[in-house]
Amino acid sequence: MSDLFSLAGRTAMVTGANTGLGQAIAIALAEAGADIVAVGRSQATQTEAGVRAAGRGFHFVQADLGQPGVSGDVIAAAKAAAAAPDILVNNAGIIRRNDALDFTEEDWDAVMDVNLKTTFFLTQAAAREMISKGAGKVINIASMLSFQGGVRVASYAASKSGVAGLTRLLANEWAAKGINVNAIAPGYFSTNNTEALRADEARNRSILERIPAGRWGQPSDLGGAAVFLSSRAADYVHGAILPVDGGWLAR
Ligand code: NAP
Repeated sequence: MSDLFSLAGRTAMVTGANTGLGQAIAIALAEAGADIVAVGRSQATQTEAGVRAAGRGFHFVQADLGQPGVSGDVIAAAKAAAAAPDILVNNAGIIRRNDALDFTEEDWDAVMDVNLKTTFFLTQAAAREMISKGAGKVINIASMLSFQGGVRVASYAASKSGVAGLTRLLANEWAAKGINVNAIAPGYFSTNNTEALRADEARNRSILERIPAGRWGQPSDLGGAAVFLSSRAADYVHGAILPVDGGWLAR
């Protein structure tokens, strides 16, 4: 059975892997046997240490995923340093909070560019390589706001709903080509992204009261889902959006 989940011999690209969920996912994939290409603006020193402790190779590709036209260069740099990815985890993401009436075009574009536009174009660039090999796994990081509306996060909700739609569209187009496109929808996790929520005592309490598991998710809670969707065990899983949310959506 462990062979079914082994990622030995695979190269996994994880965006935004220097911290938070991306870091935990990169280390989990390495522990399952994959070499890691981390992509981001900031050096991923801690992540590198975790990957190397698992005995796997690590490469860093520096890129601002909010810039247009960056995706082809990222895949080319990965190929030059290591290999084209067999597994792509589109994790990098940002959030901007403001009332819908005051929401600026800048906050709209910044979030959509990283969370949705680059997710699509990086996946397109990676899939060109995957399709030539007839195999590949893409995992998009969605959100509870792929299912729900949220408040004061107009561009984030639009981008993560877009990620869910894109996941399904790409699954439809590429399932027959041997590419699995799926998403993980994390619930409320303790990372930089949710610092403002956790710092607000009333918000923190009301979030916790709604989570059946009664606690915030820890980044390591995502590792198993990421390994599963990256592995042979998920070969017939296409277009799924897997909540890892302590039961939030069941409520
Ligand atoms: P985080 O700690 O803020 O990490 C975000 C990552 O994205 C960082 O590595 C960041 O790099 C990278 N990133 C942001 N903008 C970038 C850019 N322009 N170019 C390259 N990299 C960029 O947040 P997180 O919670 O781990 O979030 C990871 C993903 O999970 C995001 O897609 C987020 O929307 C999603 N998510 C999080 C939660 C949660 O509860 N935490 C719930 C649902 C979904 P820098 O360090 O350089 O900024």
